Amino acid sequence: MDLSIVIPLYNEAESLPELKAWIDRSLTGFSYEVIFVDDGSTDGSWEVIKEMADDGIRAIRFRRNYGKSAALYEGFAAAQGDIVVTMDADLQDSPEEIPEMVRMIREEGYDLVSGWKKKRKDNALTKNIPSKIYNWTARRVTGIKLHDMNCGLKAYKADVVKNIEVYGEMHRYIPYLAKNAGFDKIGEKPVQHQKRKYGKSKFGLDRFVHGMLDLMSLRFLSRFGRRPMHFFGTSGILMFLVGFVMTVWIIAAKLVAQANGSKFRAVTDQPLFYLALVALVLGVILFLAGFLGEMIARSSEGRNNYQIKERL
Ligand code: UDP
Ligand code: MG
Repeated sequence: MDLSIVIPLYNEAESLPELKAWIDRSLTGFSYEVIFVDDGSTDGSWEVIKEMADDGIRAIRFRRNYGKSAALYEGFAAAQGDIVVTMDADLQDSPEEIPEMVRMIREEGYDLVSGWKKKRKDNALTKNIPSKIYNWTARRVTGIKLHDMNCGLKAYKADVVKNIEVYGEMHRYIPYLAKNAGFDKIGEKPVQHQKRKYGKSKFGLDRFVHGMLDLMSLRFLSRFGRRPMHFFGTSGILMFLVGFVMTVWIIAAKLVAQANGSKFRAVTDQPLFYLALVALVLGVILFLAGFLGEMIARSSEGRNNYQIKERL
């Protein structure tokens, strides 16, 4: 089979029939399956899917709402096509872009082609502007030159989605997960974007806070996930050294003052004493975090998961 179209959906009942018809119109000439992942909808989306069910449709229904990443994870696991495409269910993404994305993967050798909603049809204040800032940061941190990291419309070589694990809310960073797994030929295609026709957006402004926190976590994991002590140990040593130098200074100053017979303040009267105390304690805590991190890393399942490209 050429394509698997994975569609996560949460309360998108009105959109689904139009979406399916639009996909069928756009993908003539391809063999494909459409995989709907109903993420615990409560608006009758599942009934609509059941009514549409034919040979080309597969569907998974969650018992409750887990989030877009969970839906994508199950969709990826189920996909059987050579190329896996993801798109939103709300008719904002156009399936007419898919053939060109597929061509880029097949002929230009991309591992992953991400859509770029160049003319974005969402609220400027709550979506478009924050999204620009967010994407700029994501580019700096991940080193992936995408304008629209979190675009729902993306196409992947099957290998990519079978070798990465989307979890939490990491659907925003699939290109970064792919890059960390060694799939670094990442392309971009400007895509048409529509206004939301039915229903309402499932993500509020908290997406940006969560997004930034997740970005920090991923950056940390990709650098130190397998060797946490290198991070915590280094900062621990630095902290400890700072505290140590301050302590030596306090003692030396006191001894010198004593020897000269000049007046001196009690050690506990000096601000430096407290700073030294905090620095020393922090240093020890960081080390402890490092040891704990090492124990977690050692017992983690993925500690020896490597991406092997080829064997001979
Ligand atoms: N979605 C989902 N589970 C959720 C939230 C959203 O499967 O918990 C789906 C949603 O139905 C849609 C896609 O993820 O197909 C993108 O969501 P939305 O259109 O609300 O995001 P926006 O376009 O506003 O960024
Ligand atoms: Mg949408």
